[in-house]
Amino acid sequence: MEKIRSVLAVSFISVLPILLMAVIAARPGVSRRPAEAAPASELIRRAGLWLEAGRAEQADLAAEVLLITEEGEKRMDMRSYLVGVVAAEMPASFMPEALEAQAVAARTFTFFRMREEPVHENGAVCADPGCCKAYMDADRLKERWGERWSENLRKIERAVEGTDGEIVVYDGAPVFAAFHSSSCGSTENSENVWSGALPYLRSVESPEKAEDVPGYHSELAISFDELRRIAGRDCPEADLSGDPEGWLTGAEYSTTGRLKSVSLGGVRLSGTQMRKLFGLRSAAVIWELEEDGVHFHVSGYGHGVGMSQYGAEVMAENGADHEEILAHYYTGTQLEKLGADAARELSRSAAEG
Ligand SMILES: [Zn+2]
Repeated sequence: MEKIRSVLAVSFISVLPILLMAVIAARPGVSRRPAEAAPASELIRRAGLWLEAGRAEQADLAAEVLLITEEGEKRMDMRSYLVGVVAAEMPASFMPEALEAQAVAARTFTFFRMREEPVHENGAVCADPGCCKAYMDADRLKERWGERWSENLRKIERAVEGTDGEIVVYDGAPVFAAFHSSSCGSTENSENVWSGALPYLRSVESPEKAEDVPGYHSELAISFDELRRIAGRDCPEADLSGDPEGWLTGAEYSTTGRLKSVSLGGVRLSGTQMRKLFGLRSAAVIWELEEDGVHFHVSGYGHGVGMSQYGAEVMAENGADHEEILAHYYTGTQLEKLGADAARELSRSAAEG
């Protein structure tokens, strides 16, 4: 029945321009068409385009994703996967343009993981945000969103569908579309967090301020005993026997204000290692020694490389669309729209290795 209905709808749209022309032609004493009206050929052409658009296959439905979850491997189309990723990675309350930028970044990262730098068998992706991207299925989203479930889901779906097939490319290839929650004034160069300098992951200004981001400033007070205990467990070579004044020394910072490296009891640690060791929200950290411990002051949240999600939200509030947001955070890149065949081919050849 559904099929018959759509066939009928199609035939009606096809004959509509002809019917219109017939009606216009049949009216006596009236010019066949006013000068400002579109000619029939134009109407027919437009009807043809509408039909084509209605029939066009979506790239995200053509591309297949192999997702590793705690319950095992699941195959799904890119559209369903991205809805679960965007919902898990960004608040649904964000502006549509920020959600669209997030959808494109997630799609780009997925193709990058499949094609450019696979870390799992058969071009699969996992649901661990520390490795690939966070993902929540419908049940978990229902639990999380409660009565806002259908409203939030429609909003996320619109962001994914509205950017169907769009990816960020550099030199024609999908980029390592890193993103993080919030930055401390500017994003970080990739080599200060990971080993490689990527040309499109350069430090750029990011507009979010403390008042835009919940928990932008965070504090952590650790007693000397606790610090010794943590170091003893995760960094046993550190010598914390002397005066606490000499425990954390030689801090070096990047130009963006993030810790690049520091000596902990004579052991050189990177900013990322320090973050992990003490569970700091970012490497944008300073500290002071107090009577009985160390007091850390942290700004922003995340590694600081690539797109800042709160920065994207502020840009969207100021009128930027998703293309402008992505071009800002991924230096020298272009936005490209994959057709269904290209998307299918990219995901298939990933699965075949
Ligand atoms: Zn993974």
